[in-house]
Amino acid sequence: MMTTQQMVLASGNRGKLQEFDQLLAPLGYAVRPQAEYQVAEVEETGLTFVENALLKAREASRVSGLPALADDSGLAVDALQGAPGIYSARFAGEPKSDAANNQKLLEALVDVPAGQRTARYWCVLVYLRHAEDPVPVIVQRSWEGEILTSPRGDGGFGYDPLFWVPTLNRSAAELQANEKNRLSHRGQAMQALLEKLSV
Ligand code: IMP
Repeated sequence: MMTTQQMVLASGNRGKLQEFDQLLAPLGYAVRPQAEYQVAEVEETGLTFVENALLKAREASRVSGLPALADDSGLAVDALQGAPGIYSARFAGEPKSDAANNQKLLEALVDVPAGQRTARYWCVLVYLRHAEDPVPVIVQRSWEGEILTSPRGDGGFGYDPLFWVPTLNRSAAELQANEKNRLSHRGQAMQALLEKLSV
């Protein structure tokens, strides 16, 4: 019989918890929320997605005494030298607002013509076997798109109404949830992590 290995997820997001738990259960992992172990949110002081994911995973593992999984994601726009990047959630400042972030992005790109509005979402996943693990499992996956000049669609979240997927001729907010989950930076990173953890 397969033994179950507990793993803590360094996130308070219920949707992410459910998605990771469903994917990892067949591999013998039970994914627990970090709140169950009183893990406080760490300050994301890194300058890259991978640094911030490592900080979150290390703290969750240190406090819980379990292996930990963390994710970090965001949008990188070529004409903005990779901004908003690690600051995607708070691009327009506090309190976090998708509408304000999208408005700020449109303004920042007002003079950027079609063809130069290329961008990609990034998702980084980090798995630590323990808090001092010197060889974390890391995957980084992207999803290519272009920034529209006005929003389209009402699905998804964040920058999705402005994120045009040329290969599908639709914005990310016009995709069915299962279609987005399969193709997106996050979906691809999860698949890559599963492959690494199942060897
Ligand atoms: P987090 O890593 O889940 O905190 O996401 C960081 C920020 O990146 C989000 O608040 C969004 O602004 C942006 N982002 C990440 N992934 C997506 C996505 O799939 N769609 C839209 N925005 C995203």
